[in-house]
Amino acid sequence: MTSGAQRDPRFDVLFEPIRIGPVTAKNRFYQVPHCNGMGHRDPTALAWMRGVKAEGGWAVVCTEEVEIHPTSDVNPFIELRLWDDRDIPMLARTADRIHEFGALVGIELAHNGPHAANHYAREVPLAASSIPVTTAGYEPLQARAMDRQDIRDLRRWHRAAALRARQAGFDLIYVYAGHALTVLHHFLSRHHNRRSDEYGGSSRNRVRLLEEIIGDTKDAVGDTCAVPCRIAVDELLGTDGLEKAEVEELIGLVAELPDLWDLSLAAWPNDSITSRFGPEGGQEPFVSGVKGLTTKPVVVVGRYTSPDRMASVVNKGIADFIGCARPSIADPFLPKKIEEGRLDDIRECIGCNICVSGDFTMSPIRCTQNPTMGEEWRKGWHPERIRPQESDKPVLIVGAGPAGLEAAQALGKRDYEVTLAEKGTALGGRVARECRLPGLAAWGRVRDYREQQLHQLPNVNVYFDSDLDAAAVLEFGVPRVVVATGARWRADGLGRSRARPMPIAAGARVLTPDDIMAGTVPSAGTRVAVWDDDHYYMGGVIAELLADKGCTTHYLTPASEASTWTQNTMEQHFIQARLLEKGVTIQSFTNLDAVSEGSITASCVFTGRTEEIEADAVVLVTSRAPEDRLAEELAARADDWGDAGIETVTTIGDALAPATIAHAVYAGRRYAEELDGPAVEGDDVPFKREIAELLPLD
Ligand code: ADP
Ligand code: SF4
Repeated sequence: MTSGAQRDPRFDVLFEPIRIGPVTAKNRFYQVPHCNGMGHRDPTALAWMRGVKAEGGWAVVCTEEVEIHPTSDVNPFIELRLWDDRDIPMLARTADRIHEFGALVGIELAHNGPHAANHYAREVPLAASSIPVTTAGYEPLQARAMDRQDIRDLRRWHRAAALRARQAGFDLIYVYAGHALTVLHHFLSRHHNRRSDEYGGSSRNRVRLLEEIIGDTKDAVGDTCAVPCRIAVDELLGTDGLEKAEVEELIGLVAELPDLWDLSLAAWPNDSITSRFGPEGGQEPFVSGVKGLTTKPVVVVGRYTSPDRMASVVNKGIADFIGCARPSIADPFLPKKIEEGRLDDIRECIGCNICVSGDFTMSPIRCTQNPTMGEEWRKGWHPERIRPQESDKPVLIVGAGPAGLEAAQALGKRDYEVTLAEKGTALGGRVARECRLPGLAAWGRVRDYREQQLHQLPNVNVYFDSDLDAAAVLEFGVPRVVVATGARWRADGLGRSRARPMPIAAGARVLTPDDIMAGTVPSAGTRVAVWDDDHYYMGGVIAELLADKGCTTHYLTPASEASTWTQNTMEQHFIQARLLEKGVTIQSFTNLDAVSEGSITASCVFTGRTEEIEADAVVLVTSRAPEDRLAEELAARADDWGDAGIETVTTIGDALAPATIAHAVYAGRRYAEELDGPAVEGDDVPFKREIAELLPLD
């Protein structure tokens, strides 16, 4: 939005070109490999998503992990494949698209070893030693120990994949030994590698396979392509796993062999830690020092969104490149905005890992901050551009939560006259409330970015203290009305487990997350039961808050674990550990049947056996009721719309169907993108998709 500004000289260092083996990156912004839930199912959508980052100024844009052989089949997860020549065109499409915008393109070749259950390929999983497969879900499978022929095969597969990758147009061809996800990592790790041959035992022996594969790759493609190595600097498993000192010793043995070192923590949840559990730059203590071991450039990650912090990483000699996955998802144009001195326009990642949930749910990547993520090709959306208005009809948006804010700023950029009416005195809706909960401060960035954009849009007028009813909306009389009035937590226990209101005795103290966020918090020493039938972050975060306030907190859930859906954001382990450390009692497989004064009746989800638990207060975290009063009133007065000049009333976000913040932002964007656009015909699929190529039958 801001134009004419110039780059701050403090950040000049970030725009220096850096040589990586035979290729040169134009600056220090490096999009490290990251998963996205699209992979081989959605190749063109994937190519366009990566291309937008290249357009946004990243010097290097990489793929996600790319399976090099059917023995590395991570189904049901959807990554990329380079099993044979037929996969080359799909990958070439990504490489070509990134090249169109002048970035280097990297491919992360991977053999996942025991982290591939091979459900699709039905091959026996391979590993350094005979161990159970390391995939999530306790698969009843073991990998077999690789013999010398298997090692020769692996080297041949990797070499063949590297040659195919070069043919597809890639500039950087990775050797991936990171995240505890690959067989090369497992050979390095004493935890996984129990071999007694020349590939096991000493550091020298354990690094041998990595050394051979980097050598093979350089030999195959190193004259024209750079060969980076991605390695885990610490597994955070104590002496049981790889630790910093040992990894530095391993790196020291092959320090000059790859063209670049790409460093991160293992396992993936430690690397991509959410803002609730780790700060920006949190990996610096682990990666500092590696640069001194090698003359090759080093990439580090750490959810960097602050240009000052990025410059300090370079100036302190921690790394040569600022590696980003999530910051490049939330803002594909982050480098360009720094270059153009538009720091206020940066859409900072909030560290929520909704993007990661795309991979875990095998659905195209989505982002809380960037609703265009994954829709660049499917819907033709762009994070920085939106087509101009196609009518001069103004829009009234009621409610300034994430849905209303996103609709307002996107429509404002289309030059529509927009009125944003908010009944409260602040922007942000649920985000403004939730960012005050323990660990969620960064979530306020959803509001901050949009507030900043609205400041630059004179055609968007914001009115606070405007609690609109149907009469007020009719009186306002604009053609387009958007109802984005949000939702409130239910106080009657209805949700997944209960279809009918819960018996609640008169005199019982029942609270909802809205009450807690509004400041009604039981005093220290109160015995509080939290029943979480929502299963995302809210129940766990409320229990944490209550424990912090000194309440004796008893968390109950029908699920097997606290905040179970956060498996998809890789937070569940951290949440459960934090609650336990704070003294919260966690009771799994438990329903809440009734609330009395001073106690609750809970029951086992399997047997139905009940028990009475003493509780002075109960927080019900079950489901939310849409705040749909205004929408219903307006619907009831549809006959009056014509006289008032109203053409459409559209309910979006939580007011329509409560969901994640990402859903609300997407709903706001969708309204803005589709307004006055071509109508979806009949039952047509409202986005582009690719379907499998059918082979001839004979
Ligand atoms: P979403 O996630 O769908 O954006 P939120 O609950 O975060 O929903 O935000 C809804 C916003 O709408 C809140 O800020 C709330 O104060 C506001 N709001 C609700 N009802 C009205 C109304 N009738 N008039 C104006 N603003 C309203
Ligand atoms: Fe960041 Fe959340 Fe977007 Fe992922 S989904 S990039 S963590 S804002």
